[in-house]
Amino acid sequence: MERDIPNNEAEWKKVLTPDQYAVLREKGTDAPFTGALLHEERTGMFTCAACGQQLFASDTKFDSGSGWPSFDQALSGATKLVEDNSHGMQRVEVVCSRCGSHLGHLFNDGPTTTGNRFCINSTSLEFAEQDAKDLAAYKEKHQKDAS
Ligand SMILES: [Zn+2]
Repeated sequence: MERDIPNNEAEWKKVLTPDQYAVLREKGTDAPFTGALLHEERTGMFTCAACGQQLFASDTKFDSGSGWPSFDQALSGATKLVEDNSHGMQRVEVVCSRCGSHLGHLFNDGPTTTGNRFCINSTSLEFAEQDAKDLAAYKEKHQKDAS
């Protein structure tokens, strides 16, 4: 369920836990192999922990061995990519298209046909279990809407 987006950082602080705030609003990074959703293998939808927008379907998740939840594709329109030159590296930051919160980074060394590896903080995500049929119907509708 999508939630209202706070107007400013003081309001974000009220609705997020300190850990969520540090990652989502201050571009922090979970320690590898610690995230609650790293080994989530049920069928369903991963949503933005800040605003509730649906971001990644469970059938795009794969085990990258990196220690962070990894996906080879985002739902169309759900994420925005931002050039990130912090920490002396050239990376592509992934943010939620609805609320602008930090999710993780996108790398082009993915093992599947998309070549994408969305490396996402578990703290930035929530998971909602869904029936496989519902998930397939959602994705079909979403892809039609996007085209
Ligand atoms: Zn969001």
